Amino acid sequence: MNLEDTSVVKALLSTTQKIVIIPHKNPDGDAIGSTLGLLHYVKNLGHEAVVIAPNDSPKFLKWMPGFEEIIIFEKDTLSAKSHIDAATLIFTLDFNHLSRVGSMQKSLEEAEATFIMIDHHQEPADYAKVTYSDVSMSSTCEMVYNFIEALDSTSKITANIANCLYTGIMTDTGSFKYSSTTSRTHRVVADLIDKGAENLAIHNRVFDTNSPSRLHILGCALKNMVILEDFNTVYITLSQAELDQFNFKKGDTEGIVNYGLTLDSIIFAVIFIENKEEGIVKISFRSQGEFSVNEFARAHFQGGGHTNAAGGKSDETLQETTARFVGLLDNYKDKLKE
Ligand code: 5GP
Ligand code: MN
Repeated sequence: MNLEDTSVVKALLSTTQKIVIIPHKNPDGDAIGSTLGLLHYVKNLGHEAVVIAPNDSPKFLKWMPGFEEIIIFEKDTLSAKSHIDAATLIFTLDFNHLSRVGSMQKSLEEAEATFIMIDHHQEPADYAKVTYSDVSMSSTCEMVYNFIEALDSTSKITANIANCLYTGIMTDTGSFKYSSTTSRTHRVVADLIDKGAENLAIHNRVFDTNSPSRLHILGCALKNMVILEDFNTVYITLSQAELDQFNFKKGDTEGIVNYGLTLDSIIFAVIFIENKEEGIVKISFRSQGEFSVNEFARAHFQGGGHTNAAGGKSDETLQETTARFVGLLDNYKDKLKE
């Protein structure tokens, strides 16, 4: 965070604020880790604060300190709206367009509070008084650590804060293996462990709490995998019928897309997940190296994200969506060929 933004934030936090902290819809470890980490920090400074999430989180995040206090907009809309209306300061974390909060968007657009954005996605929108945006960062959690450091407050990082921030850095870096993981990331993580982050327990709670349904869905997904050797590409589909058959629960499909990239020479992996209730196909894109899935998702599937991890959606049927996808690959042959 630059000096000018730091002094604006310091001035804002020098008087007691009513703070609302918001992650994106369908929150992941980084979204929940960063919002809860910041929640503990600002509450310890004496501010009134709540986290309002657009919708619920997957089970593997529900152990996080403070999770039970999160207000879910979809469930407690009236209470959530009254907090947003009364807020003096709103932090939006791990997203940079108000369209990423689903049905909560209108309430945020009408809010009178001052906005602070902390985020590492590309092309931030212009709604915040302070926009701390850095696409080179591993995670929003690493940025929240930097934010606290800019306020000369790393000594105020408690074990709860450390556990939250560690979780988001771990999940957003694929357990410290994606290219966004720097020596600085490891230094931040080391300091979080010194401050009480229970790294072994966190890995267990996030990765070793699979349900039978999740493993059955994984099995089905891997069976459905299509390898397009000419394009070094793999795609996976999961239909609503398959999800129903295996008793799908929120979070069960998290991370499945990454299996495609574990194949030798595959640089582009995609998963298409049918969601009949919303009438869409939700898509996750992953790549290795230069091929930008952010650009691909933006250009063709109403989405975006990072160079190597992005998401999007389609309003067509599952079959139409995958057919269109396969048809598009020819235009990218040069980029997908090594
Ligand atoms: P995932 O595939 O894990 O849902 O998301 C991967 C990355 O893409 C995340 O950083 C996420 O924020 C971003 N992303 C996922 N879905 C969308 C979307 O519909 N629109 C945009 N702009 N970004 C998305
Ligand atoms: Mn993130």
